Amino acid sequence: MTSPLRLSIDLPALAANWRWFDARSGAAETGAAVKADGYGLGAAAVIARLAEEGCRDFYMTTYDEIAAAGPMPPGCTAYALHGFRQGDDPRTPVVPMLNSAQQIAHWRQAAPGQACDVMVDTGMNRLGIGWREFTADLLDGLNLRTLHSHLACSDEPDSPMNAEQRARFAGIVEAVRPARAALSGSGGACLGEAYRFGAIRPGLGLYGGVPHPAAAGQLASVAAPAAEILQVRSVAAGESAGYNACWTATHPTRLATVNIGYADGYLRAFSSCGEMLVQGRRCRVAGRISMDLTIVDIGDTDARPGDWATLVYSLADAARISGLSQYELLTGLGRRYQRRYL
Ligand SMILES: *Cc1c(COP(=O)(O)O)cnc(C)c1O
Repeated sequence: MTSPLRLSIDLPALAANWRWFDARSGAAETGAAVKADGYGLGAAAVIARLAEEGCRDFYMTTYDEIAAAGPMPPGCTAYALHGFRQGDDPRTPVVPMLNSAQQIAHWRQAAPGQACDVMVDTGMNRLGIGWREFTADLLDGLNLRTLHSHLACSDEPDSPMNAEQRARFAGIVEAVRPARAALSGSGGACLGEAYRFGAIRPGLGLYGGVPHPAAAGQLASVAAPAAEILQVRSVAAGESAGYNACWTATHPTRLATVNIGYADGYLRAFSSCGEMLVQGRRCRVAGRISMDLTIVDIGDTDARPGDWATLVYSLADAARISGLSQYELLTGLGRRYQRRYL
């Protein structure tokens, strides 16, 4: 049986994107954020490919998520961004990023002397020990590997918050002198050397997202959704199409009904504005996206049922058209795709 819905994942492009970050990271080690199942593209395949390139640090959320990704390649480390939670087994080969004094106490007692990281919150107020509360003695007796923080506005190069967070973090790093420090994901890594410290944790940019204007045009698209055309019809001027008749033909039009919908992450934000390539031509979505189907104006192509439509899914453009974030466009793709790794 073949699926009428495919997600092509270009692993050579992923590898090239990782090398782009690695070539610009200087002395900082380039890891990879592979949470949310590798941003929707399959964590196991992404990890295997990036390990071949020389990536050694893989960031996921929880111990469960790390277990689902399968064993790490030799020499690689899985990090749990959400730290060491009740019920997590300290014998699992994971380095937790401890986020609070409570987690540190729990870790000290459950896994004395075992390697761990610590996350400091330098102003995002999301996850980590608050920079005002942070004192060096919190780390007493820990086998601390990397001290982390995370930027709130790294995709806004002009935001004063970047420099504020960096200064707070640099102060703590100066006081604690950890073996390694890390502040930046994809966006921060593009803000310059001062933001890179000893390691970077890019995610979005690896998968073809544009995290910062400096990366525009530098990173290759990785994910390409494509769906089968199930039906083709002609409609007369004045006829409508789709739920709530939101689209009306202004002239005789050929419409194709394609096997993708909002349950596949092709959200209603693409109604009447998303585009697909049919026989190499850019064709526009006609009317509302349904749960499992989308209607497309196929112009004068002679597309037939059984032909395929490839979504125009370059992340920065698709985000602009739909108003969704590049992150949502990737991680929302859903479970019905047959993944094809190139
Ligand atoms: C998700 C995440 C990253 C990766 O961020 P991108 O913007 O996708 O590059 C890095 N660090 C932390 C703490 C994260 O949660």
